[in-house]
Amino acid sequence: MPSAKRLRSLRSVTSWCRSLRVIAFAFAAMTVVQDAADVRAAEPIPLLAFGARIAGDDARTRIVVEFDRKPEFSIHYVGNPVRIIVDLPQTSFGLKPESLEPRGLFDAIRYGGMGVGTSRLVLSAKGPVEVSHAEVKAEEDGKSFRLILDAEKIDQARFDELLGDQQWTGTVRAAKTDRPVAAAVKNPSAFVIAVDAGHGGIDTGAIGTVTKTEEKHVTLAFAEELVATLKREAGVEAFLTRDRDEFLSLPQRVQIARQKGANLFISVHADTLKQKDIRGATVYTISDKASDHLAANLAERENLSDEIAGVPLESEPAEVADILIDLTRRETQAFSVNLARTVVSSFEGQIKLINNPHRHAGFRVLQAPDVPSILLELGFLSNKDDEKQLLDPEWRKKVSGLLAVAVRRYRETAVANGG
Ligand SMILES: [Zn+2]
Repeated sequence: MPSAKRLRSLRSVTSWCRSLRVIAFAFAAMTVVQDAADVRAAEPIPLLAFGARIAGDDARTRIVVEFDRKPEFSIHYVGNPVRIIVDLPQTSFGLKPESLEPRGLFDAIRYGGMGVGTSRLVLSAKGPVEVSHAEVKAEEDGKSFRLILDAEKIDQARFDELLGDQQWTGTVRAAKTDRPVAAAVKNPSAFVIAVDAGHGGIDTGAIGTVTKTEEKHVTLAFAEELVATLKREAGVEAFLTRDRDEFLSLPQRVQIARQKGANLFISVHADTLKQKDIRGATVYTISDKASDHLAANLAERENLSDEIAGVPLESEPAEVADILIDLTRRETQAFSVNLARTVVSSFEGQIKLINNPHRHAGFRVLQAPDVPSILLELGFLSNKDDEKQLLDPEWRKKVSGLLAVAVRRYRETAVANGG
């Protein structure tokens, strides 16, 4: 919901204030996610998946996963592209990556945490498939359990039937709400910044070329440093959208920022490029049309996050009062661009930037209509020099400090402009 400050910045259209309030309620209604109030109660000890194997061909494929305790599981299907979703209780995956290398019917297999005590196995198939048999068997010694999944090739009509029959919305339960943001609520005049560590849980993001570090860990380490640095600024409250290795869908990230009344949203990333020599930071803002190929490709990959996790794409909510939303969006967009430019100028001469460091593309995580948002590519895990820096706490401290300076300057101009 637009904060008081954001609404104040719209005072040039005071005659529309009432309508804006209506929109604010409409936005709030749109963003209610099932089980949003769910909290992570006493967290049980996760299951351990300690072994796995896959065998089969283009007609039939068997997957076996070994657990230390008996796993409860449920199976669902998602189309476009075809995926089998296996939901599990929270599980630590101690699997060798090669043990579930995709083969047979499947061209990608991912597993990891989904938040709120659940984990997931996502099997992406080359075409329509069905799980013809699924069971858990105790090993003879009674000390471990095998989950056996047999998948078979089927035709599209049968797959459509499977999709139609299942009572499953695929909604990922919202992350717990008792996060460090509580302080922001205590001080209503605070300038609130949402720091979003890209990827998480089942979505590992990019992988470092040299150290094989996963992007989700790099982004969280940086985001934690940034929040700590921003909190030292007078009048600033900062919070993390995720504070652990868990999956959040792209709309959930936006929703958390808006629910906490964020005045700014900064999503942190460190992706890879085919061109390994390219290095340096980039600051992205949202736009329908990408500024260039690199930006377009990157946005496309980032937007895959929900698909990787097996989250069905939600249908877009019906637009309410288009003109007013457009107006809010356009104004938010101007603030986002202003922030991006301020960040670039704060970085200039201090850290390595790529050519044309302010770029734009259709990142779904930047689509809050009322929260100025940027996506920060800190550097590329495909470049060994960038990778080294990204893993260096001192470098993270320095960049966080430069961002704090940028936010300070942004606030000065925003206040001057009535923002
Ligand atoms: Zn990323």
